[in-house]
Amino acid sequence: MPDEVTTTLQRVAAGLPGGGESRPGQVEMAEAVAAAVVGRRNLVVQAGTGTGKSLAYLVPAALSGERIVVATATKALQDQLADKDLPLVAAATDNGLQFAVLKGRSNYVCRQRVSEIGGPGAQLALTPGSADPPDADDSLTPTADVGSADPATIADQVRNLVRWADDTTTGDRAELPFEPHFRAWAMVSTTARECPGAFRCPSGRDCFAEDARARAAEADVIVVNTHLYGAHLASGGAVLPEHQVVVFDEAHEVEDVMTDSLGLEVGPGRFRALAVAARPVLGDDDGASRAVEGVADLADVFHRVLRPWSGRRVPHGDLSDGTSTVEPGDGDGDGDGDGGDGAGPGRPAGARGGPGGSAGSGGSAGSGGSADSGGSEDDEPLGLDLGLAPLPKVPKVTPRPVRARPTAVGSDPDLATLLALATGRVGRLVDHLRRSERDAGDGEASADRSRRDRVLLAAGHLAADLARLALLGSEEVAWVEDGARAPALRVSPIDVGPILAEQLWGSVTGILTSATVPIGLAERLGMPTGTTDTLDVGSPFDYRAHSLLYVAKSLPDRRSPAAEPALHDELELLITAAGGRTLALFTSWRAMRAAVEALSDRLPFPLLSQSDLPKPALVEAFRSDESACLFATLGFWQGVDVPGSTLSLVTIDRIPFPRPDDPVLEARRELAGPGAFGTVDLPRAGTLLAQGAGRLIRSSGDRGVVAVLDSRLATARYRGALLERVPPMKRTLDREEVVAFLTSIAAGTAG
Ligand code: SF4
Repeated sequence: MPDEVTTTLQRVAAGLPGGGESRPGQVEMAEAVAAAVVGRRNLVVQAGTGTGKSLAYLVPAALSGERIVVATATKALQDQLADKDLPLVAAATDNGLQFAVLKGRSNYVCRQRVSEIGGPGAQLALTPGSADPPDADDSLTPTADVGSADPATIADQVRNLVRWADDTTTGDRAELPFEPHFRAWAMVSTTARECPGAFRCPSGRDCFAEDARARAAEADVIVVNTHLYGAHLASGGAVLPEHQVVVFDEAHEVEDVMTDSLGLEVGPGRFRALAVAARPVLGDDDGASRAVEGVADLADVFHRVLRPWSGRRVPHGDLSDGTSTVEPGDGDGDGDGDGGDGAGPGRPAGARGGPGGSAGSGGSAGSGGSADSGGSEDDEPLGLDLGLAPLPKVPKVTPRPVRARPTAVGSDPDLATLLALATGRVGRLVDHLRRSERDAGDGEASADRSRRDRVLLAAGHLAADLARLALLGSEEVAWVEDGARAPALRVSPIDVGPILAEQLWGSVTGILTSATVPIGLAERLGMPTGTTDTLDVGSPFDYRAHSLLYVAKSLPDRRSPAAEPALHDELELLITAAGGRTLALFTSWRAMRAAVEALSDRLPFPLLSQSDLPKPALVEAFRSDESACLFATLGFWQGVDVPGSTLSLVTIDRIPFPRPDDPVLEARRELAGPGAFGTVDLPRAGTLLAQGAGRLIRSSGDRGVVAVLDSRLATARYRGALLERVPPMKRTLDREEVVAFLTSIAAGTAG
């Protein structure tokens, strides 16, 4: 196959604009991918900017005869694969290659929901639609304004969506001519956790999501979002058709995406949406109404109890029965490293209720609890100091055996109370839904049955997630995330490696590629060492001749507040020499805003900042004005592709170490022990630094400077591990050399 791969690659390249260019790294990668697929070996390939890595895996994929899933982290790459690269490859291979894009179910309009709200004479009731959060890969289709929208606007949008559902051939939200408010879209869509499946659904035969799955099942290459692949694994393999190979492009994102996908999230919105969806299904019966309102109330209670924990880790014991699995005094740990504030959750401010609030103290975490299991609906003990409704009895929780040293820093009975309360109330709602199903019998209208099926499924998933929260293992980390709309309780595995080793690598060959493969990625993803190869094909660009990496060694230590004025002076000097044309990257909004404020009157160039516009519009504004400068934070360290003279200078305000208080990383550090800085923090900082520096040279004609304005990159003992991650530019500490080079680029005289 190697010869066939090479010649096919040449044919495909010839079809590209200005094609025919030989790229040895691309050929080397394509041959390695072909060998890996045939030999059933995993492969991790670092392929620098300009390699053309997507064709280097698509061509061997197309020729392999295997079904291959390509998972990408960004919509931009997904679009490029589906709209440009795969059609070219299909034309060049001439073997009837079929490919398809598959998205999560909530990305497609649901015919059943549309028929329920849009049927003849139907009244458009403005209730939140889905009883469940969007599917995991909804990040592909950015949610419209998450703020408030007036009911009339949403009603208008829903009517437009109902009309559009009649015309569209795909039902894919990405093809909508307008961006709907999330509430409007929720009313016409369904998540995977609610959909009863085509067989039980009255609209199953005309379902857009099912059609997309059927097309994927026929395809040789299926393009998905990495989040959807994570959902596939989390579901035990129920989302994607059987396949032999998975390619993870943008592989530096895989660990974080899997950490996300293999976890769970429970926030107030799930209770609110479930109650709204259940109300019309259960009708006016007294007991059922109380069950529904009990779940509805949980939304506010969750919000109130979780808020003081925002951004903080939750000790496992809190989530089970109010009894921590951690011995007293086993809290802290290292306390070293810079910036570590030793911040554990401690006791949240709003939870100082005294003894009355303890789930463990009142004997209320007993057994039994659901309406069907004998517990009365009114037997919840009253008087908790949270102002919560009473605590139902819950099954005794047995914590999983502790595998690693636990990291809890205390216990909070209010969280345990909250979880027990939610478990009881959701369980009671499930009971009422089941009872209503039994009472309805066989003569029930199919639309009513379908509606109840969806609510039951959403309630069942919520109950399962609550049960999982009560049985957290020490290999998981729980925390409260301060979401855009409300705080949410989140759980993730600390280490995804063992899960992927067990669920993925034994049956599927993995090809992982990125311009910046993080150090130790294969190990952290659990790829077996005996059957995993690595390769670095470099980049076709001449970095040494065309670019400088400048470290501002003379600047004060970046961690000192006194460093900021010197940083602003340095930026002014460099940007002036470059004639604008600068992407200034910052590690925090605060630092970015301070620089914008300090420099907007001192620089004679248009200064764009991340506060001004959404990312695509901002990048376009930057691209279209050669003298413009763009000041931005972490969202712009990757995915900004501006070739040509518009971008001659990339500045980086400090080494991008991860936040010391990131809950998942904090747990990983504790697991890693004394070597955590080298195994957790340095690899992430190195990858992000490389991503930021990689914004500079985007085509063979580009020239420019990456300026790191953090003297630690010239002085710290760990600097070598970071510098080796940056593209192989000529390095300098000499400011005069940099200014001269930038001036020559601006004048068009640089070599
Ligand atoms: S099977 Fe029915 S409920 Fe599920 S997405 Fe399709 S139309 Fe909607």
